[in-house]
Amino acid sequence: MIHDINKALSAKSSLLINAPTGIGKTDAAISSILEFAIKNGLKAFFLTPKISQHKIAVESLQGIREKFALDISYIDMVGKRNLCINTKVNYIEGESFYRSCESLVKAKKCQFYTKAKEKGAFEKVKNDSYLGHNRFFDSCFDKGICAYEAASDIAKDSMFIIADYSHVLNPYTRASFFKRIGARMENSIIIWDEAHNIISAASSYLSANLSTYSIASAKKELAEMESNIDITYLDFILESIAGKRITNASTGEAYFDKNDIDSFMPSGIEEIVEQLEKTGLEYITKTESKRSSLSHISRFLSALYESDDSCARIVSRKGRDIKLSIIALYPKEPLSVLKEAYSNIFMSGTLLPLNMYRELFDVKTADTVNYASPFPKSNRLCLIDADVSTKYEDRSPDSYKKIAKKICAVKGKVNGNVAVFFPSFDVLDSVYRYMERQVEYIQRRDMRTHAVETMIRGFKSADDSLLFAVMGGSFSEGIDYSNNVIKGIIIVGIPLERPNLELNSRIEYMNKLFNGKGSEYAYIIPGIIRVAQAAGRAIRSESDRAFILLMDKRYDWNMYKSLISNFINISKSSDNLTEIAKFLNQNSRVKSDQSTISSSPEGSSLTV
Ligand code: SF4
Repeated sequence: MIHDINKALSAKSSLLINAPTGIGKTDAAISSILEFAIKNGLKAFFLTPKISQHKIAVESLQGIREKFALDISYIDMVGKRNLCINTKVNYIEGESFYRSCESLVKAKKCQFYTKAKEKGAFEKVKNDSYLGHNRFFDSCFDKGICAYEAASDIAKDSMFIIADYSHVLNPYTRASFFKRIGARMENSIIIWDEAHNIISAASSYLSANLSTYSIASAKKELAEMESNIDITYLDFILESIAGKRITNASTGEAYFDKNDIDSFMPSGIEEIVEQLEKTGLEYITKTESKRSSLSHISRFLSALYESDDSCARIVSRKGRDIKLSIIALYPKEPLSVLKEAYSNIFMSGTLLPLNMYRELFDVKTADTVNYASPFPKSNRLCLIDADVSTKYEDRSPDSYKKIAKKICAVKGKVNGNVAVFFPSFDVLDSVYRYMERQVEYIQRRDMRTHAVETMIRGFKSADDSLLFAVMGGSFSEGIDYSNNVIKGIIIVGIPLERPNLELNSRIEYMNKLFNGKGSEYAYIIPGIIRVAQAAGRAIRSESDRAFILLMDKRYDWNMYKSLISNFINISKSSDNLTEIAKFLNQNSRVKSDQSTISSSPEGSSLTV
């Protein structure tokens, strides 16, 4: 992997890497890039979709720094709000936080900012920048220095920066961030960790919505502010668009057009956006609220007028609630920045098919490489149970009952933890209703981070429990169940998105962009990636051993089987329960039966 990365860097090109978890890809990527960046005076970035994933990069850099006594400078950057030590504003969410900070600084009312600007202020905290953002925050807090200002200043002299995707992908903040830390894209090498998330993350920065609920809440804010701003025309706009456009009552959704709104707006859009944003900020300051619906509406109106044909504008009605949504179908603009970088190293354990991601990221000249798992194949058993289905037309109380019974039967064979991952909360709840065995850990809709962490800790320390969770969520992605804490994983169904106007629009748009591959790229493969992510939770190291049971008749269909086989070898069995029991009873662990790392046909070849 180091050899391949060096080759890409020397050629000033990008590289897409699919590599299984546990082989040390973070260390390999960081060490090779570090050397190249130092020699060539470049800046390196390690970007992740979630803050919790920064830790592994911090530990890697810390390790290299200590082991080789290298004086390398790096900093762990998180969003401004997470580094803000001013308790008067750091609880505010979204855009409004940035505006509040801005106005405090402008009015010279943030003492922490003032202190950060004093001569030598950063010297007091510089050494703590190597310890990760939490320790750095604490250190700045103790000294009364704005941690964001300090981190940005330290970043100017740092050659390695750990940060979030948004620092580079968000078109609204990228330019100011780069200017602040004195970096240029053309002099930057970027490691994109968990790169299969790039498209959805980049799309989210361009999407926005306006609902009956947000208008009602904004009206309350105006009343509390005793403001004479009148936004009742927004209710009228929503009603009139829904009445005019939604002709199919069963789907309750339709496209709308910018012009549908124009004729109802009382004055220029820019003026309204500014007025709503300003009043929203005043409301936050006065009431110490976390967020403002007035700011939310202002953000929607800006997004609406900036939206082009790469966005879908959809009106939907559910009961009395009407919602207008702007949805980015493909984030062309945020992704265009990738081409400006010196080099991008995209890596993930589920970046297959690599050619698809190369097309999606629009880095056509990039190389691709796929490293096979070096872990013993005999430590993993993957079987299919094609006797059930969670296809919409097959869902019924009987089918849920059957699935529940099968889960109980499998758990009966296992002396240890089993995680069951479902395609949605609806299916999870429906199956749970028929469980004749206790399910100790159940993921709930809208669980807060703290509750998720507590539940994961509980499950990890349990020794004979069942976990029910959904695919594509915090329990099935970006979390390490290390030390062989899971003995088996059951995947119920395929987490394909529910067909609706948004999905149809995305497929259609991507069909045009990618030569008729819209359905594959926007619908089928993202579902399979969620399966591969969930299935990959159990085997995190050479000594982990677990079975995976794929429950759904579609896993036996050629298309799904061949896609899932990119990630897992599937075995055949006429009696899954006996096979699982046999696998679990083999207590002798086989040493690595594979010392060859081979690239996929679509990657360059490499043998170690
Ligand atoms: S200047 Fe720093 S401490 Fe002050 S409000 Fe802004 S982010 Fe917070």
